[in-house]
Amino acid sequence: MQFHHHGYVTTDPRIQPAAGIGLDRPDELPDEMDVLIVGTGPAGMITAAQLAAFPEVHTRIIDRRPHRLEVGQADGIQARSVETFQAFGFAEELSREAYHITEMAFWKPDPERPEHIARAAQPVDDPQGISEFPHLIVNQARILDHFAESMANSPSRMRPDFGVEFLELSVEDSVEFPVAVRVRHTAGPREGEERTVRAKYVLGADGARSQVRTSIGRRLDGDQANHAWGVMDVLARTDFPDIRLKCAIQSDSGGSILLIPREGGHLFRMYVDLGEADQHGDVRSTTLEQIIQQANEILHPYSLDVRHVAWHSVYEVGHRLTDAFDDVEVSGDESGESDDVGTCPRVFIAGDACHTHSAKAGQGMNVSMQDGFNLGWKLGQVLSGTCRPELLRTYSQERQEVAKNLIDFDREWSTLMAMKPEEFEDPSFLEDFYVKTAEFPAGFMTEYRPSMITGAAEHQHLAEGYPIGKRFKSARVVRVCDTNPLHLGHQAEADGRWRIYAFADRPAAGQDSALTRWAQWMVESADSPVRRFTHEDQDLDALFDVKVVYQQRHTEFEVTDAPQIFLPEVGPYRLLQYEKVFGVLEGEDIFDARGISRDGAVVVVRPDQYVAHVLPLTDTAALAAFFEQSMQPPRD
Ligand SMILES: Cc1cc2nc3c(=O)[nH]c(=O)nc-3n(C[C@H](O)[C@H](O)[C@H](O)COP(=O)(O)OP(=O)(O)OC[C@H]3O[C@@H](n4cnc5c(N)ncnc54)[C@H](O)[C@@H]3O)c2cc1C
Repeated sequence: MQFHHHGYVTTDPRIQPAAGIGLDRPDELPDEMDVLIVGTGPAGMITAAQLAAFPEVHTRIIDRRPHRLEVGQADGIQARSVETFQAFGFAEELSREAYHITEMAFWKPDPERPEHIARAAQPVDDPQGISEFPHLIVNQARILDHFAESMANSPSRMRPDFGVEFLELSVEDSVEFPVAVRVRHTAGPREGEERTVRAKYVLGADGARSQVRTSIGRRLDGDQANHAWGVMDVLARTDFPDIRLKCAIQSDSGGSILLIPREGGHLFRMYVDLGEADQHGDVRSTTLEQIIQQANEILHPYSLDVRHVAWHSVYEVGHRLTDAFDDVEVSGDESGESDDVGTCPRVFIAGDACHTHSAKAGQGMNVSMQDGFNLGWKLGQVLSGTCRPELLRTYSQERQEVAKNLIDFDREWSTLMAMKPEEFEDPSFLEDFYVKTAEFPAGFMTEYRPSMITGAAEHQHLAEGYPIGKRFKSARVVRVCDTNPLHLGHQAEADGRWRIYAFADRPAAGQDSALTRWAQWMVESADSPVRRFTHEDQDLDALFDVKVVYQQRHTEFEVTDAPQIFLPEVGPYRLLQYEKVFGVLEGEDIFDARGISRDGAVVVVRPDQYVAHVLPLTDTAALAAFFEQSMQPPRD
């Protein structure tokens, strides 16, 4: 985090100087705004937090609830989400309060005494070291709180507008605010009042029963029946020894429990499988007492004495998906390229509004947040004039496919979890599947296809460890200016900027090399994306955060040997930015760790942390052409 560059800061440096709409943000929901987000769940809040980094864009986020979420809903945080929170600045704080999953236990009927359960396996949670981030459990409400804090501290000073319900919308092109939205105030001084507000774009992040989805004529298709779980967050005394471990428990009677220990050392959640809701209508009326009784039967010979119930519900969900995540008819054009602005979307849906799946793979909240992270920067860049509106088509193209893959995986996982032990040919099939497919539930299987923002793999061999389309996997380097060993990926904040990592060829800083010629082109050429798309009033790194990693150790050169593009002037005092120059860490050379060519490479990373392109240092024309597809020069 950088501060003091606008002058000395005496208070919490996370509170950034107000700018744009943050200087005079209306308290009340205004009649007109750039973006209206419906729903303060994980999908809506991350989109709002990302848009808060664009203070020139006026974003509002409404919810019909009169206040923040307090209890219930999801709690599993995959490593990819923690990586995302790191970019929003609250991963460490959240990790401190969360439960950390390191192993998972599988309990099954004891082969000697099948009426008793016994521990059958206990694999580690991340055997392949997929991520340096942990797998956490914490209540959804706390995550939403952190996003709320992040947006309140942003230059936009954004806060949710609670107590406003979405009713319906219509789109009328060729006016400045094309989406007319009918809302009703459900709390506060205007309670009961209905009004129409207008926005340039609307996001429906309003959950599985989304009215925004209905308004744009999309439907969730999929399973006929919902699967139901009795869910309870409880404090209890028990002699079950793994009560503080994540467990999948199957009893001989076919009953099953997913046990999730929760933050704070005492609370835990149990999902008791209740079967198909629509086949046994009475499942919906299962009482808390029945859930507790069933849990005790499955846990036999152990018992559960519940002393306090924080939340319980019968959570029903099926595998369902919409055919697109926006209001544009699906076309055959997968590239996202077209000059026809008329077919660019105005209304989007995200999260449970467009995909639902079982709680067993713990994906709902995580995937919903990645939807919002994908859309937020695109809306921000289009509305601030940096990118063309066609960029917005890539949201549905990219995220619909991810959701489809997730549903296929989740269906397989749920079916396996529901099978009786004797139905498996190989008794360790379930735990082997869990370990083998760990990358999926950890959130790292997403791989975007080539498009206007994802390049082709022609030069992938220059950086094998950064597959184009997958998220940028961090590795450790040394920051030259202060000799700090740190994770390169963790230096990327969720500020809506592109990252361009220049991995140097062999010569050290200060010597003539392919890197110095590339760096000179970046600063001087009229074709360089930095020159072409950054407004002359903006800092050189306002849109592109360009960093360099040399093959040498930090002791072998001076930070000031690095070319100007890596030492841009910033802020009102035109100070040099020293924190973009890195050397390799002894014994952990990033060039080896990520298969980067010793002839150097350019790795382009999107604002949502996905690798967009890999290019040689010598192919500046390809770099220029890549950004030309989505970006546009500033208008005066
Ligand atoms: C009651 C409930 C229990 C759940 N339990 C579990 C669980 O046990 N395990 C699990 O993994 N997942 C659970 N989930 C699902 C999980 O919480 C979601 O997958 C995740 O929250 C998806 O995030 P989202 O932002 O898409 O939607 P949500 O978190 O559902 O957020 C939608 C928001 O939109 C608001 N809203 C809805 N309609 C309107 C409207 N017309 N106008 C204004 N605001 C509106 C809602 O008040 C809500 O705040 C549960 C969901 C619900 C609703």
